[in-house]
Amino acid sequence: MNIHEYQAKELLAKYGVPVPAGHAAMSVEEAVAAAKQLPGPLWVVKSQIHAGGRGKGKFKELGEDAKGGVRLAHSLDEVRDHSAEMLGKTLVTVQTGPAGKEVNRLYITDGVDIAREFYLALLVDRESSRIAIVASTEGGMDIEKVAHETPDRIHTITVDPATGLMPHHGRAVAATLQLDKDLAKQCGKLLASLYEAFVGTDASQIEINPLAVTDKGELMVLDAKVGFDNNAEFRHADLADLRDLSEEDPMEIEASKFDLAYIKLDGNIGCMVNGAGLAMATMDIIKLNGAEPANFCDVGGGASKEKVTAAFKIILNDPSVKGILVNIFGGIMRCDIIAEGIVAAAREMDIKVPLVVRLEGTNVKEGKDILASSGLAIIPADDLGDAARKIVAEVKQPA
Ligand code: GDP
Ligand code: MG
Repeated sequence: MNIHEYQAKELLAKYGVPVPAGHAAMSVEEAVAAAKQLPGPLWVVKSQIHAGGRGKGKFKELGEDAKGGVRLAHSLDEVRDHSAEMLGKTLVTVQTGPAGKEVNRLYITDGVDIAREFYLALLVDRESSRIAIVASTEGGMDIEKVAHETPDRIHTITVDPATGLMPHHGRAVAATLQLDKDLAKQCGKLLASLYEAFVGTDASQIEINPLAVTDKGELMVLDAKVGFDNNAEFRHADLADLRDLSEEDPMEIEASKFDLAYIKLDGNIGCMVNGAGLAMATMDIIKLNGAEPANFCDVGGGASKEKVTAAFKIILNDPSVKGILVNIFGGIMRCDIIAEGIVAAAREMDIKVPLVVRLEGTNVKEGKDILASSGLAIIPADDLGDAARKIVAEVKQPA
């Protein structure tokens, strides 16, 4: 799960991370009221979307010359003008894709005079199975370019989970960022707060760009992107409120309500499978037979009728689906129960595309009998290869 910048900063501030004061706003009036609560004379009006690159982003509805999604304001009138121009518009950045994202929230912050800008991130490094700290003096808006053209300017340090964060990590980051004396001390403290926040919230990433040195010689987090590990969601009921559903794919939200793992893909054969490994094998074998899967969908071990129905609905909601392959292995779950679920769901949904079902495992005979006697046009398959050939043939048939 990802959260907005203002939420990330409020969260990090609780761990003692230095951030500029600020308030979220959903309307122009709220934005001006928020600015009034800050001292000025400089404010920053920031679009809140789940994507980076806002500063250099472009609004679809505004001309090429219009300013981006992060703007400095030198008066309350400027705060009002920028807010009015940004709210409700679609911001396109390098991270949003060409469709862009609608800006419905702003964050009004205290403007800071920047002396230097750095990049600092904490993430889970799968290769070393550790939390990695990534730091670079080349902070600001073009870290992707730095990574591509001058990767030697990006330094990575990993933290041994047995020791946790140690003072030497802080010194190493300070050295990388060429900070000394008091700033190096601030850097050590900041890193300790970030590490505590990372572990404490089961984050998957905390990316700070820029981390600024202000004209007053203070380290300050000016932009923060935080994502959490979904598998640890149950441990953080308090973080659930931070979710902004308008930032997520509607079908993936629907799937998550039923605890289904669903990911939309580009092909035309809808897949409904139990188990992630089997789901991947199913997609592979569809490709092997010359077609493309329309989705990845894992209904999980205990697929109930409700779950199967929800999965059918989600798969059929995709207009590119021209056929469905159901591939279920009844291990813990019995095939007859699954067959009943498929029949009930197929009846309820009035499925108009060909449906191939391959069942295997416990009570497979009973399961197949239920499908055969259902009166529905379900095409039974004997094994995975047979199932893939049948659905591909159905979909490729000239209409
Ligand atoms: P991003 O473009 O989505 O990464 O958004 P950022 O929050 O990083 O803002 C873009 C840029 O605006 C930053 O890299 C800074 O250079 C600049 N910026 C952000 N906050 C301030 C501020 O308080 N003062 C000044 N002078 N510039 C800022
Ligand atoms: Mg940034």
